[in-house]
Amino acid sequence: MAKLELYNINKIYKTNKGNVIPVKDISLEVDEGEFLTLLGPSGCGKSTMLRLIAGLEQPTHGKVVINGRDVTHVRPGDRNIAMVFQSYALYPHMTVYDNMAASLKLHKVPCEQICSLVQDVAGKLGLENLMERKPSQLSGGQRQRVALGRALVRQPAVFLLDEPLSNLDALLREQVRADLKQLFVAQKAPVVYVTHDQTEAMTLSTKIAVLCDGKLQQLDTPQGIYNQPANQFVASFVGSPQMNLLTLHCQGNYALLGEVKIPLPNLPQVPPQIVLGIRPEDVALAQPEDKYRIKGRIYLVENLGMHNLISVRVKGSDSLSIRALLPNNLTWETEEVTLAISPQLIHWFDSETWVRLGSL
Ligand code: ADP
Ligand code: MG
Repeated sequence: MAKLELYNINKIYKTNKGNVIPVKDISLEVDEGEFLTLLGPSGCGKSTMLRLIAGLEQPTHGKVVINGRDVTHVRPGDRNIAMVFQSYALYPHMTVYDNMAASLKLHKVPCEQICSLVQDVAGKLGLENLMERKPSQLSGGQRQRVALGRALVRQPAVFLLDEPLSNLDALLREQVRADLKQLFVAQKAPVVYVTHDQTEAMTLSTKIAVLCDGKLQQLDTPQGIYNQPANQFVASFVGSPQMNLLTLHCQGNYALLGEVKIPLPNLPQVPPQIVLGIRPEDVALAQPEDKYRIKGRIYLVENLGMHNLISVRVKGSDSLSIRALLPNNLTWETEEVTLAISPQLIHWFDSETWVRLGSL
């Protein structure tokens, strides 16, 4: 069965300004048919991870295993990996057909087989009518399709994709994203996809590995990452608009949000302070029956089309504000508003370690 395994991968670059450690002790597995996304901000070590899997870099410690074979010291060309870069990296003097066929020719695949493989993939990517063009005669989206096509014809042991959509404009990115999903659903080989874009990660992946500063923060399904973020970093990085994260004082088994006492989950010890996390889509306008009512004053309304994102300063507190995503047909007589939150939808985090403490 096709499988990629990483064991305790570390990478240390020695520079004249000291050591840079872009990858810190990362272990993970990607099985046949799985689409794993490495998600994190710029500089967190995503591309270095891909380069280590591809063999373009050697890990300082750790092991890379592909289909049961330890390839840590195997040359990139002997790992049977297909990689797609952000920059496309097409051969400018070659036609689309030749770009897609190049690596198969290099591996001495018979001509007839090359032709049928290229035609088949070109059909899936809608490139049939462009086979004789050079890259300079293609749009950005078409070039990206050729770069994908070149990887797909290879039928590799592992696919590696490094921010392949980031050079496309927003509309095209959405289209190619949907195409990618369909293309890779049919693939058996494990896919490792790198992006800083949470929407790409959420829509494409079967699993997401969230990275920050070279460390694995959480490895989970998209639902798991969204519904049960392991710490404040994951909570704030995934979800748009961003989750509200409010540092509150505790009193008994409650946290004080302005004038409102919010019940805490079961904790071995109640800390002096705690972080309450709630997504703007989980904050509503209060109805008469709501128990946890947060009064405040609106200081910003942002129109997002279907919704308005309103920012509210919480009454009874100097520093707290909360954002709510509300249907855009609501109008307010005054700037005063009463919001409602449900304790079941709150994520609690440790204010010092940032670790998730639980939910009710
Ligand atoms: P990402 O792809 O997540 O944006 P990278 O993996 O490219 O991040 O880089 C992670 C960190 O490693 C960055 O701080 C980068 O400057 C550093 N880095 C990458 N390659 C080298 C290198 N060859 N020498 C020194 N530092 C490097
Ligand atoms: Mg990168």
